[in-house]
Amino acid sequence: MSFADIVGHAKQLETLMWGLEKDRLHHAYLFLGPEGVGKRTIALSLAMAIQCQKRVYDFCDECANCVRVRTGNHPDVHVVAPLAGKKEISIQQVRELERELNFHPFSGRKKIALLDPASLMNSSAQNALLKTLEEPPSNSLLILLSTSTGGLLSTLLSRCLRLSFAPLPVEVVANFLASQKGMNREDAEFLAAVTMGRPGKATSPDMESLMKRRKVWAEQICSLTRGGYRKGMALAEELAGIREESLEFLEWVEGWYRDILIYCVTGSNRGICNLDMVKGIEQQAALYSLEHVLFLLAQAVRTAARIRRNVNRRMALENFFAKVIRRH
Ligand SMILES: [Zn+2]
Repeated sequence: MSFADIVGHAKQLETLMWGLEKDRLHHAYLFLGPEGVGKRTIALSLAMAIQCQKRVYDFCDECANCVRVRTGNHPDVHVVAPLAGKKEISIQQVRELERELNFHPFSGRKKIALLDPASLMNSSAQNALLKTLEEPPSNSLLILLSTSTGGLLSTLLSRCLRLSFAPLPVEVVANFLASQKGMNREDAEFLAAVTMGRPGKATSPDMESLMKRRKVWAEQICSLTRGGYRKGMALAEELAGIREESLEFLEWVEGWYRDILIYCVTGSNRGICNLDMVKGIEQQAALYSLEHVLFLLAQAVRTAARIRRNVNRRMALENFFAKVIRRH
């Protein structure tokens, strides 16, 4: 693998490769975009390109340094995420990182840190990082990854060069799945649509289980009708247990309302992502006005953003389902 094999995001890659070749990389970047769109792949690819033993301004994905970066074992490349069992990236982690960044790089190249997801830094961790960004250690490169700017200090944001990563055209992801992942055309097109143009999502190991869960979610959301508050509360409780599960659900439900919206506007299933659930989408579209669908779509996005900022998940989901029920 090399930069040329990365699917999509040509403009963002061009910016980074230009910086790499001219030795003009910014000291801090903010990679913004939905989960699974390619932010982490590109951040790690850039780190590999900086450390690679075989290629110049690119990476081979095979040499000892590339393998170390990819597997999280390179002494000059640090990925900072919440520690096991913790909800946030702590100030101690940021201080430790700052100490690391001030050491001379083992490789003689750059010290690189990925904060992933950066939005999980609590405010004291963000303030500590701000100090590092104000006086960045020489030869350091920080990449903050996040799905949104919500919860990040504006002072922190202003010190990072922002690169936005949008979902890719479904056709591009389908081609990637067929040509590079060996999928048959039909499966590739279906999976590209279901994951809304996010190659990382389409190739994630839990995709199979997600395919099953979304069918259950569709049944559950269709069963929430006027007065079904108890059902809504039970569903909120069921989904709130695991943070990632809550977010997966909300991500899916966002696509679900988007599909209903497309159906309401166009009266056809062209461009929808839940291609195997067209009947349910048709039924729901008949129940809603356009305004209602837009409202619920916005609520799904808002609820996910709140959960990413670590609000009480059960309350956030109960609130969301109450709106779904009221809007019937
Ligand atoms: Zn290499």
